[in-house]
Amino acid sequence: MNAADIMIGLEDLSEADEAALSLIKSRQAAMEKRVTGWSAINTGSWNAQGLNAFSKQLAEALSETGADIDFIPTAPIEKVDDKGQMTQFQSAPVIRAQARKDAQVQVILTGHYDTVFPPNTFETIKDIGDGKLNGPGLADMKGGITVMIEALKAFESGTDKDKLGYTVILTPDEETGNFGSNPMIMDAAKDAHIGLTFEPSMEDGSMVGGRKGSAVFDVVFHGRSAHAGRNPEDGNSALMAAAEFALDIEALNGQFDGVTLNVGSIDGGNAVNIVPAIAVVRMGVRAPDEPSADWATQNVRAAYEKALKRKGITGHFHGGFYRPPKPRNAAQDRLLSDVTETGKALGLSLTFRDTGGVCEGNNVFAAGTPNIDTLGVRGGRIHSSDEFMVVESLSERAGLAVLILNRIADGRIDAKAIKNLMTN
Ligand SMILES: [Zn+2]
Repeated sequence: MNAADIMIGLEDLSEADEAALSLIKSRQAAMEKRVTGWSAINTGSWNAQGLNAFSKQLAEALSETGADIDFIPTAPIEKVDDKGQMTQFQSAPVIRAQARKDAQVQVILTGHYDTVFPPNTFETIKDIGDGKLNGPGLADMKGGITVMIEALKAFESGTDKDKLGYTVILTPDEETGNFGSNPMIMDAAKDAHIGLTFEPSMEDGSMVGGRKGSAVFDVVFHGRSAHAGRNPEDGNSALMAAAEFALDIEALNGQFDGVTLNVGSIDGGNAVNIVPAIAVVRMGVRAPDEPSADWATQNVRAAYEKALKRKGITGHFHGGFYRPPKPRNAAQDRLLSDVTETGKALGLSLTFRDTGGVCEGNNVFAAGTPNIDTLGVRGGRIHSSDEFMVVESLSERAGLAVLILNRIADGRIDAKAIKNLMTN
C-alpha cells in the first residue's frame, strides 16, 4: 500500500467500487487517445456534415457499454435572420442509449457532441505542459463524453448493474440552446430519478451548484421606408422602435434581484437617406428562479408592446426561457451532499459554486429530475482557443462517476428519496 492509497478512504469503497476503479485506471491512456481523436473532428454547432459524420463514430464508442443505441432525428431549428425572416437549420440526430428500462432505479446521463468552434477556426491539439492539453472540445465536452462512456463500461462490469437502468442522451445542439434535442432530453429525464451531465468542472475540480435560467428573445420591428429628404413624413422608423425597446430593456436591470438583461445586437436599416423599415433586436435574460423568470418575460413582452405603439410599427416576438432556472432546493442539496461524500471516498474534496451559466442540467431539472451537471473533465478557458483539459482528470472523473452509479445502484445514494424531495 502506498501513501496515495492510505489517503483514500478505502473503508468507503465497496468491492464493486474497487474493481471499477482499477478498471478505469487501466483505461487512462485509451481515454486520452480517444478524446484527442475526437477533438480533431470538427463538430461546430452549425456544421451539420461534421456532426453527422461524428455521430456514427460516437455511437460506436457508446455501444461498448452494451446498451441499445438509437439515432433520433432532431426537428429543424428555426432562426430569425438579420432581415427578420425565419430560416431553418437541420442539425444531426440525438444519439440515445438505453439499458434496463424496467430496473427499479433509473438514471439519465446527458452530454453534447457539438462545440462552439466552426470549421477552420480552432483545430489544433497542443500539449501545453502541466499535464494539460489544449484543443477544441477537449473539455467542453468530448472529454466529458469519454468519461461518461468509461464510467458506464466499468459499471456494467460490476455486480450491481441489474439494480439500475439508464438512458444516455447525446445532443448535437447544446451550444445553441438544445432547440432540436430538448424534447428527447425531457422525455428521458422525466422518468429518471437522478440526472448526470458531463460538462467540465473547473481546473481545481470545483463544480456547479445552482444555475440561473437563460432566455433569448429575437424581436423584429417592421416600419415603413421613405426618402429621408423628400418625404420623411411617410416613413415609420423600425430602428427608432428598436432603440426605444433597447433602452426600456436596459432600464429593467437592477429592478428584480438576480435578473440581468442584455441587448446583444440590433440589425436593421439601410442608407442614411432612407427611413429604416426593418430592425431585428437580439437580447438575453438570466434569472435565478421561476418567479423572477416570469417577471422578466412579462416585462420584456411589455417593452415590446410599448414599442409597437409607435406610429406605423408592427412586429414579431420570438423566444423565451429555453433553459429554466435550476436553483438549489432540498433535492439538489441532498444530491450535492451525497456526491461530496462519494468524492471523499476517492480522496477528492468537492466544492460547489452557483453560476449564471446554463447547460442541459437546467433542462433535466425542468423535467423534475434532480441532477449534477459538471461530472466531466477538469478544464478551463472553454469557448476560447485556449480551451484545455487536465489529462489525468479523465480517469479521476470517470472514477467519480462510476462510484456515483454504484452508490445509486446499491442504495448508498437513495435516488428515489432524492427525487421525492423535488415535489416537497
Ligand atoms: Zn458544454
